[in-house]
Amino acid sequence: MITVIAIDALEYNLVEEFNMRNLKQEYYGKTDISEFSEPRTMVLWSSFMTGENKEEEILAKGDKEMWNTRIPHEETFFSHFENPFILDLPGYNYDLEQHERERRLLKEFFMEKDEEKKREIRKKYNENAFAHHRKIKERFLEALEGEYDFILGYFSVADVIGHLNFGNRMMMKMIYRDLDEIVSQVEGKKIVLSDHGMKAVGVFGDHSEYGFWSTNFKELGRPKITDFKSIILSETK
Ligand SMILES: [Zn+2]
Repeated sequence: MITVIAIDALEYNLVEEFNMRNLKQEYYGKTDISEFSEPRTMVLWSSFMTGENKEEEILAKGDKEMWNTRIPHEETFFSHFENPFILDLPGYNYDLEQHERERRLLKEFFMEKDEEKKREIRKKYNENAFAHHRKIKERFLEALEGEYDFILGYFSVADVIGHLNFGNRMMMKMIYRDLDEIVSQVEGKKIVLSDHGMKAVGVFGDHSEYGFWSTNFKELGRPKITDFKSIILSETK
């Protein structure tokens, strides 16, 4: 039994800076995503779950339609399990409405010129992201008690909050601490994996050009995100 804690935009340098021991586990490092032209969430998770570089296919859908991607179960490595539990993963089964809301508020924030109104929009944006995170965390912890042969929980909070608040170290540390605590509650073999990290752009955050991985069972060097299919399947035989 293996559990994947998939964390959008978990940044290697912040895990180090905050010294998050559960996120780091025994072995940790950066993933190599240099085969992709840009570190895009939908492209990277789609490539992860299929074990193939899906960039061309996903980008061909265009910026808007891309977010509606639903890769059929049979095309993912999840189909090798009898009773997998996959929670909120982009490109597979994540909450489209929630993501729409995030994107709408983000757009509103950058369109707005008035500082006071900007603060209000950011507050709403943050509250919306934290509320979703609480719900996902609860469902994930519940699933840990279930009869599954594979569990994957996807957590978007570090990415969503990071885009507008990356310069707020207190807020970012609070999120990393919470994610660290979630990992500590998982028993057995586990992989923490991010699609890409995050770098500061003024007070905001943008995707960095590598991801983060950690395990409590194996040194992986500098794996590609498409390598995890075989890493996971070989560990669960
Ligand atoms: Zn992002």
